[in-house]
Amino acid sequence: MEKSFKHNVTLHKDGTYSMGISINYGYMTPDELIALANIAKKYNVTTCMATTAKKISFMDVKEDDVNKIWDEIDETFGERLSYPHGKIVVCPGLEYCKFALAGRDNKKIAKMVEEISLKHNAGKIKVGVTSCPLGCAMPRIKDLGIFGTPYGWSVVIGGNAGAHTTIAQPVADKLSDEELYQLLDKIYQYFEDNRTGKERTVSTIKRLGFEHFKAQVLGE
Ligand code: SF4
Repeated sequence: MEKSFKHNVTLHKDGTYSMGISINYGYMTPDELIALANIAKKYNVTTCMATTAKKISFMDVKEDDVNKIWDEIDETFGERLSYPHGKIVVCPGLEYCKFALAGRDNKKIAKMVEEISLKHNAGKIKVGVTSCPLGCAMPRIKDLGIFGTPYGWSVVIGGNAGAHTTIAQPVADKLSDEELYQLLDKIYQYFEDNRTGKERTVSTIKRLGFEHFKAQVLGE
């Protein structure tokens, strides 16, 4: 019988599992990092990996330890290491980067995306949010990309970094925070209404056409 785990894990060919632990958009204090390392050591994890999704993955966890580790992580960190963060990647942004544009607070927008995504059953949507067009969180190859410009926020859709790499298509630009919220809500609603199975944004748009997406989301 298939084992049931508290959160997603990946089975390896040697029978161990990797657990991708979503950290808060990639940010931790040194004390939190030490606490996480202590949990890894307690369960004899020999290798940890920093992933492109800003997770720390415990790479060789024994089956019986998976849920015990999730319990310890939940008890130690609470919602700070909660699962949804893993789909949203941010750049160092307004807080740290000298290129970040005034008013383009990407962490605030990431929290907005998280709130909207939890309202909808829109499937797997990977998101990149950056505070300038340079795009260090790779918004142009994410399902949904958002980047700051001197004139507001720009939004692109349908990117993918997989085997058939696809650059996301422009949807709108010069958006205020409020206009961005309205647009993102429509985008998540669109994929909730139109995706089939585990389809990603690029496949839904390919199947129905970008004109269909624009008609439904932008009313064009
Ligand atoms: S995308 Fe722009 S603001 Fe963000 S880290 Fe890169 S250069 Fe800095």
